[in-house]
Amino acid sequence: MKITELLAHAAERGEPVFSFEFFPPKTDAGVESLFESIRALRPLAPSFVSVTWGAGGNVGGRSQEILARIARESELTAMAHLTCAGVSVDELRATLSSFRAANIKNVLLLRGDPPRGVREFTPHAHGLAHASDLIQLAREGDGAPLCIGGACYPEGHIESKDPLDDLRHLKAKVDAGAQFLITQLFFDNRCYFDFVGRARAAGITVPILPGIMPITNVDQVERFTALCGASVPPKLAAAMRVRRSDPEAALQLGVAWATLQCADLLRRGAPGIHFYTLNRSPSSRAILAALRAMEPWRG
Ligand SMILES: Cc1cc2nc3c(=O)[nH]c(=O)nc-3n(C[C@H](O)[C@H](O)[C@H](O)COP(=O)(O)OP(=O)(O)OC[C@H]3O[C@@H](n4cnc5c(N)ncnc54)[C@H](O)[C@@H]3O)c2cc1C
Repeated sequence: MKITELLAHAAERGEPVFSFEFFPPKTDAGVESLFESIRALRPLAPSFVSVTWGAGGNVGGRSQEILARIARESELTAMAHLTCAGVSVDELRATLSSFRAANIKNVLLLRGDPPRGVREFTPHAHGLAHASDLIQLAREGDGAPLCIGGACYPEGHIESKDPLDDLRHLKAKVDAGAQFLITQLFFDNRCYFDFVGRARAAGITVPILPGIMPITNVDQVERFTALCGASVPPKLAAAMRVRRSDPEAALQLGVAWATLQCADLLRRGAPGIHFYTLNRSPSSRAILAALRAMEPWRG
C-alpha cells in the first residue's frame, strides 16, 4: 500500500500511523538479528517499516537485499530510502527502476550526507545536488508512479544558515513532488509544533510525521545530535549525564522520555510517529505498546 493511502485512511479513522526505521547491517549475523526485531514488531501492527540507504556518504549497501527479504517474509509495507550521494543520474535512474521492478511503491528521497570528516556535500560529477532534484527525477518517465516522501528539520538543517531559506527549499521539495515529510529527530515537542506552524504558513500542506529516537546510549545520542544539530533540553541532558555509565538506567530514561513525548505529540494532533530504532526495537516496541494501550490521540 502507498504511505499516502495509509496516512489518509488513518486520518479518516482518527488514528495515527506508526513506522519503524532500520539500517542495513553489514554482517549476516546483523541481518538475522534485524529480522528478529522485525518479526517481534508484528503483534504491534506497524503501519510501515523503512530501510535506510548508506550513510555518511556511502552508497546503498544491503538496502535492496533487506527490502526484498521484508517483501518475501512479511506482509509489512516497506519504504526504501535513496540518496544522491556518490552516484550519477544514470545510477539513480537504474535504482529507481529496480525499486519499481521489485514492486517497492514507497520511497524516501534524500540528498545524503558528505563522507565522514568532510564538511560540505559535493554531488557526483554526473549526479544531483538536492533532494528536490531526485524527486523530480523519480517523477519523470512513464514508470509506475512512486509514493514519495522527503526529510525535514524542525530545528533547521545543519548546513542551513537561514531558517527561511531552509523552509523555501522545503517548499520547493514538496512542490517537486514530496507527498509526505518525516522529521529529523528532536527531543522537545515545541520544536515540532513551531516548525509545523511555520511550514503550514509557508503553504506546505502535506503530512509531517515526527521522527523520534528513544535514547539507548548516552554517548551515541550525543554523537548523533552533534552530527545533525538537534538540541537536547537541559533537563534531559542532565538526566542523561548522571546515567552515562549505567546503560540500563539510560535505556529506561529513553523509553520514559520518548513515551511522554509521543503521547503529547499524538494528543496534539501529530499524524503518527516514525521511530528511529537503530535496529534495536525493544524500546520502540515498549513505547508503542504503551501508546496503543493509552490511545492519547483520543484526547
Ligand atoms: C527521515 C530521515 C531519513 C534519512 N535517511 C537517510 C538515509 O537513508 N541515508 C542517508 O545517507 N541519510 C539519510 N538522512 C540524512 C540526510 O541525508 C541528511 O540530513 C542530508 O544532509 C540532507 O538530506 P535532505 O534530503 O534533507 O537534503 P536537501 O533537501 O537537499 O537539503 C540539504 C540542504 O540543502 C539545502 N537546499 C535544498 N535545496 C536547495 C537549493 N535548491 N539550493 C540551495 N540549497 C538547497 C537545504 O536547505 C539543506 O540545508 C535522513 C534524514 C532524515 C530526516
